[in-house]
Amino acid sequence: MISIPQHVLDAVVAHARAEAPNECCGLLLGRAGAIDEALPARNVRRSPAAFQVDPVDHFAAIRRTRAEGREILGAYHSHPHSAALPSATDIAEAHYPEFLHLIVSLAGPAPEVRGYHIRSGEAVEGELEFCET
Ligand SMILES: [Zn+2]
Repeated sequence: MISIPQHVLDAVVAHARAEAPNECCGLLLGRAGAIDEALPARNVRRSPAAFQVDPVDHFAAIRRTRAEGREILGAYHSHPHSAALPSATDIAEAHYPEFLHLIVSLAGPAPEVRGYHIRSGEAVEGELEFCET
């Protein structure tokens, strides 16, 4: 079970809606393994079907979390027109085996968010729990 604060979920969904029809992306920050912030990043691909976190934003996040004694625990992106399932590209380009990969789909009547761990070319879904803190 992976706990995610409701305000982090809300921020991810709001970012997905703001970037539609393109995919949005960002990083999930936290402390001691607990996610407490969704940090928006630029999608250098500016595409409705692909994303790549801008390396400038990624490095800035690394510096900031180090300075704050926090860590990058995952990444998120949106699927404006398809289900919240990792694409072949998502799996091929997942370079951080310890990350939680959050995908928000805007394809249905309501946003759907799912989380995965992607290791060695395989995506395993983790059960998400949305909490108030
Ligand atoms: Zn994707």
